[in-house]
Amino acid sequence: MERFKTDILIIGAGPCGLFTVFEAGLLKLQCHLVDALPTIGGQLSEIYPKKPIYDIPGYPSILAEELAANLMKQIEPFKPSFTLGERAEQITKLPSGHFEMKTNKNTIIEAPVVAIAGGLGCFEPRKPTIENIVDFEDKGVDYIIKDPEKFRNKKIVIAGGGDSALDWSIYLSDIALEVVMIHRRTEFRGAPESVSKVGELVESGKIRLITEAEVTGLKGEHILESVEIQRTNQEPLILNTDYFIPLFGLTPKLGPIADWGLNLDKNAIVVNTLDYSTNVEGIYAIGDINTYEGKLKLILCGFHEATLMVQSAYRIIHSGKKPGFKYTTVTGISGIE
Ligand SMILES: Cc1cc2nc3c(=O)[nH]c(=O)nc-3n(C[C@H](O)[C@H](O)[C@H](O)COP(=O)(O)OP(=O)(O)OC[C@H]3O[C@@H](n4cnc5c(N)ncnc54)[C@H](O)[C@@H]3O)c2cc1C
Repeated sequence: MERFKTDILIIGAGPCGLFTVFEAGLLKLQCHLVDALPTIGGQLSEIYPKKPIYDIPGYPSILAEELAANLMKQIEPFKPSFTLGERAEQITKLPSGHFEMKTNKNTIIEAPVVAIAGGLGCFEPRKPTIENIVDFEDKGVDYIIKDPEKFRNKKIVIAGGGDSALDWSIYLSDIALEVVMIHRRTEFRGAPESVSKVGELVESGKIRLITEAEVTGLKGEHILESVEIQRTNQEPLILNTDYFIPLFGLTPKLGPIADWGLNLDKNAIVVNTLDYSTNVEGIYAIGDINTYEGKLKLILCGFHEATLMVQSAYRIIHSGKKPGFKYTTVTGISGIE
């Protein structure tokens, strides 16, 4: 079980969570970010990495994935720490007045201030309807690939017909002992280059492709040992495997944050526009996850909210003291050691 202590715990490493680190860093506040996804960037990385964005001030056009990478570069001097691939699950207030947040993997982070930058919520994997699938989660069934090395020299079955299934099958065909791809149809929804690359790897025997098929059963004593595959107009097939990875996409859900006692309006957290504080002192909400009169779900607006929010957070952390205000052109950037 890992434990962290920080000044501001940021839930969500999308653009608004990342920019919070910068604004907090200017006030010498340390941040720790938690994201349910294994990568940073939120919607920028998960939904539209290759799309150009045209309304970021100073950038006539920037690819979403480049903006995420630039934000990471901009916050480097402030040395944030990260817990990725874990969902913020429970929050409790300690007698000290600090918050203690626990993730679904039991990591604990303590901080006097919590900034929720959870966007549309947690991207939850779409799970196939296999009766006992939950019994094998983390015991052979993975919905998100966090560390590809885990699959080195293992037998894996990947299901899906989109970019994720195609790209990971290609990548893992170099690492895994055996890659079997299962798809319900004969056509794929992914990028044409990836589809032809998979075709080549099937030809060369590095990927086994079974189309018009679905995984319908999982078997194993304590961990996954085999999958049952139903094929159209054919006998079912049993394949021995170490891992089954269904990659059917992700859908956002507000998730556990909905039970933290915060005022909500239609799945968004109601905030005071003075400082983007919630009804719980010390907990703020910025970016797509908050709501107020006139709210616009834009990156630019989330950046503004983050900037004002850390000013208020500073007062909580430093017993009511007001932070000094200086231009970066005057102070430059002095990082956190
Ligand atoms: C197709 C598309 C195009 C867009 N184009 C533009 C545009 O041109 N200009 C513009 O300004 N905006 C655009 N947007 C909107 C913009 O992407 C969002 O406003 C922005 O991503 C919001 O940032 P955020 O940091 O608030 O949240 P997000 O980017 O949604 O990130 C939130 C993160 O929080 C994580 N999270 C949520 N709950 C938890 C939890 N309980 N535990 C751990 N992690 C959690 C999620 O996994 C996610 O990574 C577009 C959106 C889409 C979908």
